Amino acid sequence: VQGVRDGGGDPRPRRVLVFPLPFQGHIDPMMHLAGALHARAGLAVTVLHTRFNALDPARHPEFRFVEVPDGVPAGVAATGRIIDVILAMNAAMEASPAAVLGALASAMIAEDEDEEAPRAACLVIDSNLLSVQRAAEKLGLPTMVLRTGSAACLRCFLAYPMLHDKGYLPSQESQLYMPVPELPPLRVRDLFQTKISSHEMVREVIARITETVRNCSGLIINTFEALEPDELQKLRGELDLPLLLAAGPLHKLSSKTTGSSLLDQDYSCIEWLDTQPPGSVLYVSFGSLAAMDSGEFVEVAWGLANSGHPFLWVVRPNLVQDTDIAQLPDGFEDAVKGRGMVIQWAPQQEVLAHRAVGGFWTHCGWNSTLESVGEGVPMICRPNAVDQMMNARYVEEVWGVGFELEGELERGEVEGAVRKLMGGGREGAEMTERAEVLRRKVAECLDGSGSSRTAIDKLVDYMLSL
Ligand code: UDP
Repeated sequence: VQGVRDGGGDPRPRRVLVFPLPFQGHIDPMMHLAGALHARAGLAVTVLHTRFNALDPARHPEFRFVEVPDGVPAGVAATGRIIDVILAMNAAMEASPAAVLGALASAMIAEDEDEEAPRAACLVIDSNLLSVQRAAEKLGLPTMVLRTGSAACLRCFLAYPMLHDKGYLPSQESQLYMPVPELPPLRVRDLFQTKISSHEMVREVIARITETVRNCSGLIINTFEALEPDELQKLRGELDLPLLLAAGPLHKLSSKTTGSSLLDQDYSCIEWLDTQPPGSVLYVSFGSLAAMDSGEFVEVAWGLANSGHPFLWVVRPNLVQDTDIAQLPDGFEDAVKGRGMVIQWAPQQEVLAHRAVGGFWTHCGWNSTLESVGEGVPMICRPNAVDQMMNARYVEEVWGVGFELEGELERGEVEGAVRKLMGGGREGAEMTERAEVLRRKVAECLDGSGSSRTAIDKLVDYMLSL
């Protein structure tokens, strides 16, 4: 095994199959994990993927790709709503398991006729793919699970039945700021919830996730020991798993660009950032799914313009509800000439790593949060739903590297928040200092004997022992 890691002996003795959930925030960490296993241990990788949000094999010549029929009805795919897609995909795969069984079998054994070909060691699945885990079980293929959210988020999922029994959920307006002592520092409003899917649907998705996690042969979480030490320790007690590894931030363990972006990343912003002073630019992006109404969009635009600070703003298609490409308000472009740049999709990791970027206004998706932490960039948090509220809570309350912009989006509030973070005042400066301390912890967990680097080594040894 050591020889494999060192690259000695047969450089490609085993194959790992990976199956991400087909959404940007789930694809990226899975492809980074695959990249790390391939680069560090020489493992061969086969990526299973759906037609919905299909990946482009040409962008990953080092991996094999196998398409799995997803059965997501066109109407559901068109909404792009993650919970609807998860439920539809699992239902279709369970209704006709032959399709997924066939795809898995071909990924496992197509090469077995060739004696030299690497043998499938295990399948790493997104935790939302219970139906795939069930199929793999039938084929005798061990599954490992990648959790793309925080350790705190998984603890919240495991506690979901208790949160209902005790009446925290479904949440009441009057109790939103009530602490949940079982999951400190969360309050009721920070628990995993969505506004667009029914509470019952959310419960079902979470119950399936916890079942997938409990059934797996090992769990990988995209976090690191020094970021969530208590949460990881408690999880290890709460889950009786043969292996539970904190191996993140995964994007730091494989090459910078995964080529798994579903939208084209506009690199012209890097040239523009090159012209800006160090630490001066606020990067603004709300991830791949969060949306706002047109009134909020206008308030964000004028808040940024009136702040007087340089900014790079990602206005992706569908950011504004019911419009493909949002129209910037009249006069906005003149008001921010030379100081503001608006693009449709950014190479976010490169942007956050750029010396000109001094702050990130984010929706607090877990990947965005980790990417910001990894570069020591403090945050303005505007969480919208799902795990974003709890991520924002940790950013503000536990790590002290940002603050939440709460309430209605209004230009004066936006302007004030930007000035608080970027304006050189004490509070913003302290957040920047703490972000730098956290960045150093990320660097430590990634170095030769660091916790995440060691976790990847343990993972490889374990995979090869399965
Ligand atoms: N991202 C990107 N370009 C952008 C905005 C986001 O490449 O302009 C990437 C970002 O680096 C992150 C992912 O999209 O890896 C978003 O994941 P996250 O968990 O932050 O949010 P989600 O999109 O799942 O809500």
